[in-house]
Amino acid sequence: MRIGILGGTGSRSIIDDAETVRVETAWGAVPVETGRVGDLLVFFVSRHGADHGRSAHRVAHKANLAALAACRTDAVFAINNVGGLREPFTTGDLVVPHDLVALWGPHVTIHEAEAVHVDMTAPYCPHLRSALVTAASETWNGTVHAEGVYVQVPGPRLETAAEVRHLATMGDVVGMTGGPEAVLARELGLCFASLAFVANPAAGREAGPVVADALRKALADVSVALRDTVVAAARAVPRDRDCGCREAPAKGRMAPVPMRQAHKA
Ligand SMILES: [Zn+2]
Repeated sequence: MRIGILGGTGSRSIIDDAETVRVETAWGAVPVETGRVGDLLVFFVSRHGADHGRSAHRVAHKANLAALAACRTDAVFAINNVGGLREPFTTGDLVVPHDLVALWGPHVTIHEAEAVHVDMTAPYCPHLRSALVTAASETWNGTVHAEGVYVQVPGPRLETAAEVRHLATMGDVVGMTGGPEAVLARELGLCFASLAFVANPAAGREAGPVVADALRKALADVSVALRDTVVAAARAVPRDRDCGCREAPAKGRMAPVPMRQAHKA
C-alpha cells in the first residue's frame, strides 16, 4: 500500500529515516518525504511547505495533492487543525468528518480546461473514515467524534464571533485547508479522509480572544499522537475497496456534445 499523508501546522514527519524527493507538478515542485513505516510505503507532504512558510491562503493545494497522486498513492490522510463550532466539539477532541461545507473557497480544481463535475455527495472515503475512527478510538486519550461536518473558511484570519454563530448552524468544526484537499483528492480519484484535531473553541464560545501561539503549542503537544493514529489507520485500510473514489473523475467528466447537436443548440 502506498499511503499519502498531508500534515499541518505542528505535524512532524511520520517516517523515520525519511528521504526527501522533489516532485514536479504542473503547479510547482513539492518536497515529499518518503520511506517505509512497517509494511507501508508512506509519502508525507507538509501542507504549508517544508519551512511552514505558506499561510492558509497561500497553501499550494493543487501542487500538494498532485504530488501525492504522482507518487501513485491510492489512499491519502490529512491531519487538519480545527476550531470547535458548537457543543460537544471541544478542545482536545478528534473528529473524523463525514461531510463538508466549502462554499467560500479557496475554490480549486485541477480541471482548468474542461468541465468535470465530480460527485461530492459523500466527500470522504468510507473505508479511510472507518479506519480512522477505529484507530482513533484505540489510540486517542480523549473524545473521538465518529462524525462531524467540517466548515471550510478561507483564512488566514480567524473568525468573528458572529461568523462562528452563523457557521455553527451548518457545521461542527471550522478550518482553513480541509475543503480544497477533499475536492482535489476526489478530482484526482484518491481515497481521502481527514483527521481533525480540535485545537480551540471557535471565537466567542469562551471569554477572551483566540491566541495563535497557544494554538501552535497545543498542536506541537499532540503531533506524535496524531501521526500514530494515522499510521494505525493506514495499516487497517483494505487493499480492495468498493468505494468508487477512483472512478469519480471519469464519472464527473461530461461527454462531449456532438458538433451537429451543439450547432442546433
Ligand atoms: Zn475510497
